[in-house]
Amino acid sequence: MAKAYYFAGLPLRARRGLSSDDVVLYKLLESNAEKLDDIAIFFLPTVSDIRVEEDWRARIWVHQFNSWNDYMIMTRPFSFSLEEAERLAQTLKLRSDAKVVASFASSRLSSLRALAERFADKVDGFEIDLGLTYLLSGGRRGFESYVIDMLEEFVSESARPVIVKLSPAAPPTQEFLRHLKTIGVGAVIFSPHVVYSLGNEFFRVHSTYLSKVYALIWAKLATTSDVPSAYISDIPEHLLGDFAVERSFDIILYDTALLHRVASFPQVKRLGDEFLVRWSSIHERMRPAFNLREEQQCVDVCPFRAFTREGEATGIMGDFLVASEKCDRCGLCLSCCKSARLVAVITPEE
Ligand code: SF4
Repeated sequence: MAKAYYFAGLPLRARRGLSSDDVVLYKLLESNAEKLDDIAIFFLPTVSDIRVEEDWRARIWVHQFNSWNDYMIMTRPFSFSLEEAERLAQTLKLRSDAKVVASFASSRLSSLRALAERFADKVDGFEIDLGLTYLLSGGRRGFESYVIDMLEEFVSESARPVIVKLSPAAPPTQEFLRHLKTIGVGAVIFSPHVVYSLGNEFFRVHSTYLSKVYALIWAKLATTSDVPSAYISDIPEHLLGDFAVERSFDIILYDTALLHRVASFPQVKRLGDEFLVRWSSIHERMRPAFNLREEQQCVDVCPFRAFTREGEATGIMGDFLVASEKCDRCGLCLSCCKSARLVAVITPEE
């Protein structure tokens, strides 16, 4: 029988998991679960009491891509509705024996309680994302002591293990980690992802360089604390050496680092460009298209195979290949392909 690893008291069949925010991977999971067969624990996309209305904004943006060792990708926290996250939990439970953890961010205990009640019979544990909680609280002073009080209440009432995700947005002290242990937090996830918000828009930065740097910074905290720990690596597992510092954590989680399994990117160079401050919208009647003559490699960018060589795409408009109805409006091709643009799609009845 395969060895079981324990994380926050949950038995896992491998020391490998998927963290919460890669929208493309989660969308694929609904139709293509075997792509993630080797994952032992899934952290659902983070939800809050923020309402996600009908939302046409893209969910992922490639700022720079040279290789899977050298990229910067942005994703959009809170782009999943509660209903979508619940559906994912149910799909995962049906299709896999992996553990499923719901992820929440809120600066109000009453909201955390309501979210926990809603997910209680669908998941094995709860994660509280402190980076996003910090942003939602407006970066309040005394955040550590406020959050310890809130977590203490939440953990004492929870029927499931509670895991805390730490972020560079609100770096913890060793004393804070000791408190987490004292109040009964089951495990800590160390994330290298910078999160920021502008108005109502939230951004999460996935960078291989930050991933390497924060593995070193967080490893010291993790090894001096006796709470089980996980690290989110933006470097794919096959590129991590045997003695990589990431392996000093109890388990490793992957997010954008798993995208290489479902998409192939051309080089993207935007290093001189400003960081993303607004997400582009892809309205229902718009579809991405790109110049096939200039950027043939873009056919393989779409994880949903909306640009196929077999002619399933909606069609050719001049030199442009238009995405088929398989397009999920993730936004990936718009950031990866220089010639990409949105075109209006008119159905035969119109
Ligand atoms: S065509 Fe594919 S890559 Fe482009 S937005 Fe649609 S789903 Fe995403």
